[in-house]
Amino acid sequence: MPGLSAGRRGAVFLDRDGVLNENVPGGYVTGWHAFRWLPGAIDAIALLNRLERKAILVTNQACIGKGIASRSAIDGIHDRMRRELASRQAVVDGIYVCPHRPETGCACRKPRPGMLLRAAEEHEIDLSASFFIGDALSDMLAAKAAGASGILVLSGRGHAQEAETRRLQAADRYCEGVMEAVESLAQTSWFSRRRN
Ligand SMILES: [Mg+2]
Ligand SMILES: [Zn+2]
Repeated sequence: MPGLSAGRRGAVFLDRDGVLNENVPGGYVTGWHAFRWLPGAIDAIALLNRLERKAILVTNQACIGKGIASRSAIDGIHDRMRRELASRQAVVDGIYVCPHRPETGCACRKPRPGMLLRAAEEHEIDLSASFFIGDALSDMLAAKAAGASGILVLSGRGHAQEAETRRLQAADRYCEGVMEAVESLAQTSWFSRRRN
């Protein structure tokens, strides 16, 4: 066998709140009315599509477990995201949601790597060749726990989480926003080097 990871390629995992859309300070995005795309988010996903890299959304939504938003309301946000992305010729390849409250100790809530591990199996992703773009230390820790690399963006909560993330050396790169992060990957040898 020519290697266990034959056929698997690196992907880009994307946190949602603070990376693709604005955070609701002290609250949750409970419906489309509260959803605001961040600059460059749609273009960044379109660029990943052109680079033929899977774009996988990975988001903690404890608002479901807390009864603040229903699962169908959160799925409805993601349906609308997909429709707006499609109208701009962009597509996300997968959306993974942890609906649990923090105290349940589930395996999927970031900083645990459960959603990344599941996505890797379902999409045949080489995690060691993958990046996770997030605005929180917990995103970077989930990346590390899954064996992927982390890019902390300074949008959303990123600016407030940068010092602690740097202290723990938990991120591999730091970028202003999601478009800069994807461009930084496109400009390096990462995409071509891992192509086959
Ligand atoms: Mg976030
Ligand atoms: Zn969970």
